[in-house]
Amino acid sequence: LEQQLRHAQRLEAVGNLAGGVAHDLNNILQVINGYGSLMQMTQAADDPNRAGLAEILKAAERAASLTHSLLAFSRKQVMNPRTLDLNGVVGNVEKLLKRIIGADIRLTVEKDPEPLHVHADLGQIEHVLLNLANNAREAMPTGGSLAIATRTTAIDAAWRDSRGFGQPGPYALLEVRDSGVGMDAETLRRVFDPYFTTREMGRGTGLGLATVYGIVKQHGGYIVADSEPGRGATFQVYLPIAPDPVTPQAAPDPDRDQVRG
Ligand code: ADP
Repeated sequence: LEQQLRHAQRLEAVGNLAGGVAHDLNNILQVINGYGSLMQMTQAADDPNRAGLAEILKAAERAASLTHSLLAFSRKQVMNPRTLDLNGVVGNVEKLLKRIIGADIRLTVEKDPEPLHVHADLGQIEHVLLNLANNAREAMPTGGSLAIATRTTAIDAAWRDSRGFGQPGPYALLEVRDSGVGMDAETLRRVFDPYFTTREMGRGTGLGLATVYGIVKQHGGYIVADSEPGRGATFQVYLPIAPDPVTPQAAPDPDRDQVRG
């Protein structure tokens, strides 16, 4: 437990540092991009620096996308939250998910029969789901199964005590379970760390789950991962249940305020 707590605190510290650095870096990149684009626009067609300048701008763009991920990790992202039904979010991306995972992976989707209202940014929650599915696919190079489920759950004192974090209350759960290669304890411990990747050079940035972690945190939620080598992996996203959106009022009852009986 102490180790998990330390890990949570470390992630918090890394997030703060990364957010600060990314913010400053972003300002610098805006200068590079701004003046670079201006130079490009006024550049003569036969300017010998044409290709060089294009490379500089491309690199600056890559750097901007990295700082974007870091800002997301540190929760410094603009949120546009609405009350959403988590089942609807899953429904939105089901087709896309099928395409991401391909024909070798069997997809099952088990949605809670009741709507699961959360106060969330639609694009960000879709991003979380697609990212988790993408990692699952990478973990199943020769096929397997991917199970996505939603249900209501609660964080109670026992849950919090066993993990060292968690605000007790009702939550909507989004679960993504794969039958892939799984993870050893060391990988599991580091999955949400920015820049942690086990993929070969150039194949992974290690920012996927760090970004997911940041998004979930920003929503007041939690994400936990469970896995063993060779036994697949399960990621569970807990999002606080939002009060039901305002439902249309029943037609006013003229007798309502009268004392009866
Ligand atoms: P990236 O995909 O760029 O490596 P992520 O942050 O998405 O970065 O993932 C970090 C690491 O976590 C991966 O390199 C992989 O080792 C491990 N991982 C993530 N999801 C899974 C999964 N579903 N099954 C097994 N390992 C996983």
